[in-house]
This record gives sequence, structure tokens and C-alpha cells, in this order.
Amino acid sequence: MSSFPATRALRATVSRGLRFASTASSATLKAGRREVSVPTGIFINNEFRTSIGDNKFGVVSPATGQEVLQIEEGREEDVNEAVSAARAAFKSQWAKSDPVWRGALLNRLAELMERDREDIIALEMLDTGKTYKQASTGDFPGAVGTLKYYAGWADKVVGLTSFNIPKTFAYTRREPIGVCGQIIPWNFPLLMFIWKIAPALATGNTVVIKSAEATPLGALKCCELIKEAGFPPGVINLVSGFGNTVGNAITNHMDVDKVAFTGSTATGRRILQASASSNLKKVTLELGGKGPNIIFPDVDMDKTVDWAAWGINMNAGQTCHAGTRIYVHDDVYDAFVDAFAKRMSSLKVGDNFDSSVDQGPQNNKLQYDKILQYIESGKQEGATVKTGGKKVEGTDGGYFIEPTVFTNVKPDMKIMREEIFGPVVCVSRFSSESEVIALANDTSYGLAAAVHTKDYERAVRVTNALQSGTTWVNMYNFVHWSIPFGGYKESGFGRECGEAALENYTEVKAVYFNMGMEAPK
Ligand code: ADP
Repeated sequence: MSSFPATRALRATVSRGLRFASTASSATLKAGRREVSVPTGIFINNEFRTSIGDNKFGVVSPATGQEVLQIEEGREEDVNEAVSAARAAFKSQWAKSDPVWRGALLNRLAELMERDREDIIALEMLDTGKTYKQASTGDFPGAVGTLKYYAGWADKVVGLTSFNIPKTFAYTRREPIGVCGQIIPWNFPLLMFIWKIAPALATGNTVVIKSAEATPLGALKCCELIKEAGFPPGVINLVSGFGNTVGNAITNHMDVDKVAFTGSTATGRRILQASASSNLKKVTLELGGKGPNIIFPDVDMDKTVDWAAWGINMNAGQTCHAGTRIYVHDDVYDAFVDAFAKRMSSLKVGDNFDSSVDQGPQNNKLQYDKILQYIESGKQEGATVKTGGKKVEGTDGGYFIEPTVFTNVKPDMKIMREEIFGPVVCVSRFSSESEVIALANDTSYGLAAAVHTKDYERAVRVTNALQSGTTWVNMYNFVHWSIPFGGYKESGFGRECGEAALENYTEVKAVYFNMGMEAPK
């Protein structure tokens, strides 16, 4: 844990950096049918460098379990150097720069990403196991859309003016917070990279970002484009590496002003503790979920089955807002379960570069093993496997799991209470609106939920009663960059996307002017 004073940290890192860091190279990877080049270094001050300790780590393809390349692994010294670069960039020009220019740079980055669209998508598929459909219609347009959206906001962030107080007038300024330490997960690496940089940069902050150790490639590729787009050195810095080293160094750093984190609830707790025991940096957390998906009898059953399947299958179930607890009214329970199980078992699982495949591999071995353990626990606790329930046979080394539907799941079973983060879903029945609201809210999480009904009064009543940051009516798993996203309860706090995210990245300064007020005597 680094609890040293900021000045000492800065001096130490600069001298260490000069001694050890040198220019790092790039690699060319085969991603499906494409050959894609990707830088491998730590990105600081618009340069890709070797890590100060000369450490490297392997990137593994989830489709084969084989290492595809080695990249530079940052540690605390690299984080110190990145923070120092971000601080210098913040002070020298970025924080006070013309917001129109910041918006133009974000738009330029979006244009460059569109130019390199197919390379970026292929790299993301290789790194994550996503299908082309997922990466090209979800992650990629989400990332580019977010950049353009916040480019538009850059020159529209303003304060208030008040003449309502006698003999004074007051106004507020929205000022950037400073150096933002951003930590992202492996399920949407490209999208989360952009979610974490776009609002921060639009509002004049600088960034030190850590990608997830399982999926570092998309962020590296974007940094190449960040340099090409013309962002000044030090505005965005990327340190690839592990949570207990790089992540820990960011969250404990005395010169990082804010941390935005997406990941597990357990790590979220550690990040809050790190803030509390260092400089009380501001923290926003987007954590786990266990989304309820409620189905009343008055629905179009085919469409509801489509949305329920998408609710769990999107991104192979590796989504914090996945609809993992499906509650179906008694009147349509049997019909739904039959159609839904049929749909889930018809999904083709396999190599994510095969365009006929619906579901690729799970992202990493750790997660793959965890999902299989949850499936075993469901069986042992007495739930019924309606379909799926095991790994896909004959897929040498890759992390493939059958889409799995459990029925007869009791509220206290592990698979009903804990986030599985894979293609595993529990289906239960209910008989009344009040019963299902209680069941849906019986969780420590509160990220996303849905209700399916044609009765609009019921839709409003139920969504109002759900303790959840996002609620859908007659749909599931649709998130747009212009609408706030975040959690109730142990799913975190703070909102990403939309205007709401700008609040996380600005301090509000109040300025009072004396217009004839006498000092009290
Ligand atoms: P998961 O269990 O899904 O991998 P994590 O919360 O462990 O979720 O990981 C999300 C991100 O948080 C990753 O980038 C990971 O490296 C990082 N991380 C893990 N542990 C820590 C930590 N102690 N401090 C800061 N970041 C961490």
C-alpha cells in the first residue's frame, strides 16, 4: 500500500522512469481472418514504453486456452509515473483548455475508431471470446456512440447564476476534479474503456486507466489512436496489469483525485477502503447484479421468450445486468418454460469467429471454473436442470459452457442468490404482483430488472417498486449511452452514461459576490 506523500512519489517515479523505461514494440496477431497489429507497452505521455521492472504477462485466447502474446505488465512504479504524467497534463493545459477542442478530439478518436472498425472488432473478439454480432452491434457502436455523445457535452457543462439573495449574487462553476484513476473489467473491455475516458476528458480531467488483466488488447489499440487523434501527452495513460498491483497502486495513490470502477462487489469494497485509508479520493462503483425478469400472463409469448433469452445470452451471460432470475406467473409458467428451454438449447456454442455461432467461450479459465461450480451447486441443492448443465464436450482447451436453465429453484439456493456471470438462468413461478415484487427485491443487488406485461398501469406500479438502477418494460439488456446507468444497494453508486455521468467528473464551486452587504458586527 503506497501511503507516501505525493511529492516524494512524483520525484521517485520520474527518476526511476528515466533510468529504466524504453520504447516498447507492437505485435501482429491473427484474429479470425485478419492480421491486426497491437502495441504491447505501457502508454504514458503518448509513448508505449516497457514496464519499469521489465515485467510481462501473457494474453490468452478464450477459444483455445492458448497464450497469444505477451505484453508489458505495469506495477506500482509505472502507476506512479502515469499519475505524474496525468498530473502534469492536467496542470499545464488540459484542465483549462477550450472545451470545443476537447470535444473535437473525442470526435476525432471516434472517427479513427470507425476507420479501423474491423481491426478493433477482430481484436476484441480474440481477446474476449465475443461473437461478431455482439462485438459489432453492441460493444463497438456503443463505444463510438459514447465518444460522440460526450464530445457534444464538452462545451455545454455550465453552472448556475442566482440573484435571489439580497445584496449578493452567486454563481457556480463546474471544474474538473483532476487525475481520474479508472479500473475496468473484462466483460466489455472496449466499451468500458470508452465509458471511463469520454466523460472524464470532456470535462477537462486527465486519466490513468487500468484494463483488466484478462482483456488488455482493445485499450492498447485505442491508445494508438488516441495519440494519432492529437490528444496532448499525459491526458490519457494506460497501465496494463493486475488488480493487486496496478489496481491497488491507483486506488491508494495520494495524487489520484477520483476512481471510477466497474467490477465485482468484493473489489468495490476494497476500493472504498483504499480511498478511506489514503486521500479520500472520490469513488464511483458499478458492481454486480442478479437481475429479476418478471413475466405476467398478458404478454406476447414469442417476443417475451426472445427478450428473456437475450437477457441471459447477451455476451454469454457475462453481464452484470443479465436477467438471471426469471419469475413467471403460474398461468403461463409451463408454456414459457417449454418455449424458453427449447430456445436456449437451440443456441449454437462454439468458436466465436464462426459466424453461425450464437455463443462463444466464456472469457477466462477462472470464470469458466466458477460457472461450472455454480452449476454443480445448483444440482446438489436440488434444482432441476431443464436444459444444458455442463461444459461443451470436445472443445479442446476453450472455455465453452452449455446455455443452462434451472427450474425448481428455491429463494435461498446459491444459484438464486449469487452472481454467476455466465449462461446460467433460474426460472421460478409466482402467483401475485405483491409476491413477485418481494421476490424480485429479495437480493443485495439492485442493478437491472424487467417486467413483461401489456397492462401499462401494472408496468408503472411494478417498475416503481423495483429497487433497481435500470428497469425495462417488455425488453431486456438494452443500455444506451445517453441514459444513466448504475446500481441501487450493493450494485454500487454513481451513474455512468447520460448527463448524470458528468456530475462524477466535476466539482461544483460556489462563488458569492458582495453587492452592498455589510459585515455583521
Ligand atoms: P472479476 O472477479 O469479474 O474479475 P474484479 O473486480 O476482480 O472482477 O476485476 C475488475 C477489475 O478490478 C480488473 O481490472 C481487476 O484487475 C481489478 N482489480 C482486482 N482487484 C483489485 C484491487 N484490489 N484493487 C483495484 N483493482 C482491482
